[in-house]
Amino acid sequence: MTSPSPSPSQARAQAAAKPKGGSGTKKGPRPKHVPQRMCVVCRDHAAKRALTRLVRVGDGQVEVDPSGRKNGRGAYLCARPECWERALKGELLAKALNTTLPTAVRDHLRDHAATLATPEGAAAEAAAAKENA
Ligand SMILES: [Zn+2]
Repeated sequence: MTSPSPSPSQARAQAAAKPKGGSGTKKGPRPKHVPQRMCVVCRDHAAKRALTRLVRVGDGQVEVDPSGRKNGRGAYLCARPECWERALKGELLAKALNTTLPTAVRDHLRDHAATLATPEGAAAEAAAAKENA
């Protein structure tokens, strides 16, 4: 162990001066940032696209916003039927949107909830379609 290695201070300087080029130019498999939103009922976070955005477009008027870009105060609900039920039965959604929900709006949203394809529902539908084929 008497090799003429560079002095410790020199070695440290070399390590610090390590060129940065190598990893900086390489495009790593860095995952894309997925915007996360929270269901106002169960407070689960999920990818924005997995949630339904509801937006208040006027006094007591609430619309489903599939684009997620409408102007107005928005709230998100996940695809669970029980979350929609709770949101529409109680004041959770109304509070989240800082408004009151007329019965007509609640009915409309409930209809929309019924059309939501839950993963389980879609799978069951696909299975049923196969059986019929
Ligand atoms: Zn939920």
